[in-house]
Amino acid sequence: MRLWPRGPTRRPRLASCRISNHVQIFENRGAMMGASNPHPHCQIWATEHVPDEPLRELSAQQEYADEHHRCLLCDYAATELAQAERVVAETAILSAVVPYWATWPFETLVLPRRHMGSFTDFTAAERTGLAAILKAVTTRYNNLFQVSFPYSLGFHQRPTDGRAHDSMHFHAHFYPPLLRSRRSASSWSASRCLAARSVTLRPKRGRAPARITGKALPRLSYCLSYSKGSKILELVRNCISK
Ligand SMILES: [Zn+2]
Ligand SMILES: [Zn+2]
Repeated sequence: MRLWPRGPTRRPRLASCRISNHVQIFENRGAMMGASNPHPHCQIWATEHVPDEPLRELSAQQEYADEHHRCLLCDYAATELAQAERVVAETAILSAVVPYWATWPFETLVLPRRHMGSFTDFTAAERTGLAAILKAVTTRYNNLFQVSFPYSLGFHQRPTDGRAHDSMHFHAHFYPPLLRSRRSASSWSASRCLAARSVTLRPKRGRAPARITGKALPRLSYCLSYSKGSKILELVRNCISK
């Protein structure tokens, strides 16, 4: 989680670069996703063009704002929280849901409750809140599959082309590797999932959302399995459950 102090400070510098119109921050977690190092780390790509996927999202959000004079993802987050069927985690600052349009099994979407367009809009408390909800989601993945679960994680934020893009609502996508073959896994890593999807897959329905959103999943990581008599683990568990 030490990426947060750096990500937001690097983005303005990249954004001020005249040839950088889009900044993509992403993480590939695990060897299956093509990560070259086992320790958590992210990549920041600055490009002259806005990639297809965020461009499509931007266009849809602008269209909705023009028609309803409201933010698409603010309205969507409120609807999901009211229905409480696909909510994976929620705090006063952010929520994580399985989007109803999910393409990959166990795909999740993280949304700030307040309308904001990029990392630069986050307060210090909101950055801490973002780190906390990302931790909550990854712990759920780990506990569900009882492994250090691989995933691609990336953030979509407003382009850095100098225009306001007020309709853009910052969000994060988690794309697990399920449905990807071992051979194609790395080519389906975050950069591709977040920038330009070239295939169409049917949304996966069934029990997956219910399982990852299920209240039965513990919030403590599976690898910190609780054993009676371990005072340290008991302390950790008590802290987390407060
Ligand atoms: Zn919004
Ligand atoms: Zn997006």
